Amino acid sequence: MSASAATQRILLQAGIVIDGTGRAPFPADVVIEGNTIASVGSVASNAETRRIDARGLTVMPGLIDAHCHLTFDDAGSNPEIFHQRRHGLSALVAGYNAGKLLRAGVTGILDPDSVHECGVDVRDAIEAGVVEGPRIAAGCYALIPKLGGTAGQLIADKGITGYYKVVEGRDEIVSEVRRQVKVGADWIKVHVSGVAPRYAHRGELCHWTQDELDLICAVAHDLGVPVMGHCRGDESSWRSARAGMDLLFHATGLAERTVAAIIERGIPVCPAFTFQANLVEYGHRIGTDPALIKLFEREITDSADSLRRLHAAGVPLLTGSEAGFTMVPYGHWHHREMEVFVRYLGLTPLQAIQCATQAGARALKLDGKVGVIAPGMLADVICVAGDPSRDVGVLGDPANIRHVFVDGRAIDLSPQRARRPIPGWRLPSMGAALTRAVALGAAKPGSG
Ligand SMILES: [Zn+2]
Repeated sequence: MSASAATQRILLQAGIVIDGTGRAPFPADVVIEGNTIASVGSVASNAETRRIDARGLTVMPGLIDAHCHLTFDDAGSNPEIFHQRRHGLSALVAGYNAGKLLRAGVTGILDPDSVHECGVDVRDAIEAGVVEGPRIAAGCYALIPKLGGTAGQLIADKGITGYYKVVEGRDEIVSEVRRQVKVGADWIKVHVSGVAPRYAHRGELCHWTQDELDLICAVAHDLGVPVMGHCRGDESSWRSARAGMDLLFHATGLAERTVAAIIERGIPVCPAFTFQANLVEYGHRIGTDPALIKLFEREITDSADSLRRLHAAGVPLLTGSEAGFTMVPYGHWHHREMEVFVRYLGLTPLQAIQCATQAGARALKLDGKVGVIAPGMLADVICVAGDPSRDVGVLGDPANIRHVFVDGRAIDLSPQRARRPIPGWRLPSMGAALTRAVALGAAKPGSG
């Protein structure tokens, strides 16, 4: 922090505070001094204080998106990320997209894995004040064995494909975890489950042995770095929990033993259902296959009960948007997981907000330091028109996001300049199959 930022005093006067702990909203003045919340209560302004009239506004912690792929640039598909992207340009474009997050009230993200691991570069550039953006905790490449991740056979048998790195055997696992810590990974990301096309009917297979997952965690934890796992299906979640992972993404299809293990160890879970929820609710507007829509809805409804039980038992549920794909573009859906938690898990809006703020701080490794409006906390604060304690949907409209502070610094929310297409950046599509029936206007594209 510069000296001038450290002495700056900002009074957010007469707003309604949602403090992020689940407590009911209450009227209060909030004072930010330097990068810290100095007081919450009744405060008289003085000449040195910059005063912001917060009457009619909700003052709350900035949103923390615990699953946001900031370097994917709203890709239409994995092949686009794997083959159309360049390292440096990915980082520069991510710097632009970071501005979209700020304007949506997002003050912190966990970027689990990134195109050529440039997430750590974007993070460092933001921390150094080179680029403006939210706080970032970044992973490097997602570790996978040869069997591959969710992109199946698109991923090469060896080395790096986009945001994945294949590691086989103990030596490669140990070496890569250490290399990622050297590069500056905040977390180690493991794709614990993935699709083998021939066996797709069995869902995502757990493609690591227990020994291998234990080893990843042992090496990372020895260096004081936490591990997070992409886990679809019970086996991958079960083995990850037993290996001592620190955060589980998705954690769908859990059996009884795994629910118990997660509760016993208190492992935070980030379901990241926004992608599925968008397809379920809006897929018909973009031509999604109805069978696929049913499949995605089942993934949410089948997991709702176990997630509800985890939450009731005190397991932190984190909100993640999966932003970085066309289905969940930056700046549009970071609030959406809260709606999913309210609708499908039966959480109250205040409980859902707690997930996106106080609980989300764990994703940033800033538990107890950010995500709550209280004296001594870091000043990641937003002022919002409307009452999110009644309807978290008000957080989805950028017009409602009136003020954003990251680390005590007021963010300029004026519109970003428009960007133009980058040559060769997107994967071109020829469109649906041109059958004779489609050509002659007798059938719709994509039918048959
Ligand atoms: Zn993801």
